[in-house]
Amino acid sequence: MSILKAPENVPVWVDETRCKACDLCVSVCPAGVLAMRPEASSILGAMLEIENPQSCIGCCDCELSCPDFAIHVADKKEFKFSKLTDEARQRAIDIKNNNYKVLKV
Ligand code: SF4
Ligand code: SF4
Repeated sequence: MSILKAPENVPVWVDETRCKACDLCVSVCPAGVLAMRPEASSILGAMLEIENPQSCIGCCDCELSCPDFAIHVADKKEFKFSKLTDEARQRAIDIKNNNYKVLKV
């Protein structure tokens, strides 16, 4: 659970100065909210993208799995999260099958 104040109207956010683009958070997200985008200036040539914030269910699995404390989830009292939909669940599967990369480039 994040103790940081969420940026306005944002359920989940990434500190790009800490993210090493390891894919771990993408692999645990059940709702297809996260994916990696190409980023030439990053060591691994990628950076985490909060691609579908409207589908975040606030489970905190991404925050709890990040080894670098680079991703944060808003407090449940500060943000109304959505429910996990069949579409979001399928998108999560599609992103993982797409090697954790964004589906639309
Ligand atoms: S788990 Fe952390 S370091 Fe890895 S991609 Fe996600 S935010 Fe970046
Ligand atoms: S809080 Fe849960 S649903 Fe939201 S981005 Fe993190 S892992 Fe995905």
